[in-house]
Amino acid sequence: MTRRTLLAGLAAVVATAALLASPAVRAGSEPINYADINKIKAEGLQNSQVMELASWLTDVYAPRLTGSPTFLKAAEWTVAKMKEWGLANAKIEPWTNRNGFERGWTNDKFYLSAVAPERFPIPGTPAAWTPGTNGLVSGEVVLVTATTEAELAPYKGTLRGKWVLTQAAPDVAAYWKPLATRYTAEELAELESWPAPQPEFGVAAPGAGRMGGPGPGPGAPAAQAPQAGGRQGQPGQPAAAAQPGIVPPAAVQAMMRGTAAAAARHAFFKAEGVLGMFTTTPRGHGIYTISGNRASDPAATVPAISIAAEHYGRLARMVAKNVPVVLEADIRNTFTPDPPVFNVVGEIPGTDKADEIVLLGGHFDTWHASPGATDNAAGVAAMLEALRILKTTGVGLRRTVRVGLWGGEEQGLLGSREYVSTHFASRQPLPATPGAPPAPAGGRGGFGGPQGPLELKPAYDKLSVYFNIDNGAGAIRGIYLQGNDAVGPIFREWMEPFRSLGMTTVTIRNTGGTDHQAFDAVGLPGFQFIQDELEYETLTHHTNMDTYERLQPNDMRKMATIAAGFAYLAANRDEKLPRKPLTVPVAGRGGR
Ligand SMILES: [Zn+2]
Repeated sequence: MTRRTLLAGLAAVVATAALLASPAVRAGSEPINYADINKIKAEGLQNSQVMELASWLTDVYAPRLTGSPTFLKAAEWTVAKMKEWGLANAKIEPWTNRNGFERGWTNDKFYLSAVAPERFPIPGTPAAWTPGTNGLVSGEVVLVTATTEAELAPYKGTLRGKWVLTQAAPDVAAYWKPLATRYTAEELAELESWPAPQPEFGVAAPGAGRMGGPGPGPGAPAAQAPQAGGRQGQPGQPAAAAQPGIVPPAAVQAMMRGTAAAAARHAFFKAEGVLGMFTTTPRGHGIYTISGNRASDPAATVPAISIAAEHYGRLARMVAKNVPVVLEADIRNTFTPDPPVFNVVGEIPGTDKADEIVLLGGHFDTWHASPGATDNAAGVAAMLEALRILKTTGVGLRRTVRVGLWGGEEQGLLGSREYVSTHFASRQPLPATPGAPPAPAGGRGGFGGPQGPLELKPAYDKLSVYFNIDNGAGAIRGIYLQGNDAVGPIFREWMEPFRSLGMTTVTIRNTGGTDHQAFDAVGLPGFQFIQDELEYETLTHHTNMDTYERLQPNDMRKMATIAAGFAYLAANRDEKLPRKPLTVPVAGRGGR
């Protein structure tokens, strides 16, 4: 050893000794143990398994429509993986309430082709919970844009053995803008400001929630609670105006009307002997969106197929020229009665505060036109990887860190609401008042119409925080405070080790449309990260293009590392995270 390296070595020893003497380096008021944080960053960024996890969850065990056989197989694989890592209490946790999932559904065969005037194959996907064809069938294509009973009446007796196009051919714009985007510094700065008030939230305003596709999908959108707040990058609802769990009656009424109208149209077509119906979306470029209504009655529903605008437009333009167009199809969909519906959980037990919980999560279910990589294998893989990182590094965790992977998010945050109702707090729907709209199916946990007082479970006071990932595959750029000002200074300090990964922004705004709302609705601290958009709205969200290729490995690694870091910091903080004042009454208490 030369003198020079000896000095360097001594300096390193002194530095290490200083670190050991004071592991909790107090930069602000939040102690941050940088030795542990650096272990987490090294494991998450250099030994990452997040893309391998994502591959299993997109290539092998996907798609995961809630109640489908693959949904269960994927859960069994995930539980086995958590056990392999040495996590505790890894298990499938069935819902206590079936939430309208009377039937599981899979598409087992799909063949669709034009046969006249020319033969060409037509890729497509049936809407969930719609029936298949009666074997190989063939018929002529007609255009019927009527939706109401009165408009449909003139078609009585004319539609037997026909395929129905249900809308005019959409115009498809060119890609004038980049398909993938990241937040600019200006956009992030804008996000930090208090948003302009919105006239009404949770309805069809741009960016109102992230759950719905553009317009009612085939088979009608599933009955789901409209979501308060804007999507990321959009002005959300000012926190003070957002009553947890209150859905505007107008939004509920609009949704109920839309669902009822779609069901009535299906019933009319079924009675008339229609072979099937087609829908599309204007984005074109081979992309279509998908949905489905788990409550639809197979006996009053026709095959409903989403196809790309290019194929749809070709059919519609030929029909408009009175050129006879004939399609043949063989579609086999399988219904399975009383399918298992559940969440998946696993945890790393804490030490001196083991009875208190830090929860990471995201929804496990997907739609079914593609593997659902960005919605939401990305969030599932990142949160599982976060637990793997914490377990592998062996960093100390005072509180128990648990992962919760929810079913039924796409049908209205059902799994997370079930979990909150079972473990933390529930609200019962109030008896319907005359003239009021009925609560949507599964209206538990503080959503969907008038609700009674909060009934608190013993664990209500044991949850420190819930962090959610469900905004695609983009890197984490910050966090939404969901109107909880008191956590802002804490998160600003916790972000410091992750600024170099691009996480710089704390916004008071709300974001909606996903599972943190189930916690927020009952006054528990639930947060969703701000993520770069990438191709979420342009290519992947609820489309046939949401595949492994749309995941960006660097973004995924950052996501998992930051989730692990925030879980670690929350698990070791002296106090639980501060909560917002409750604005809903609590059963047995005058207020809270
Ligand atoms: Zn999602």
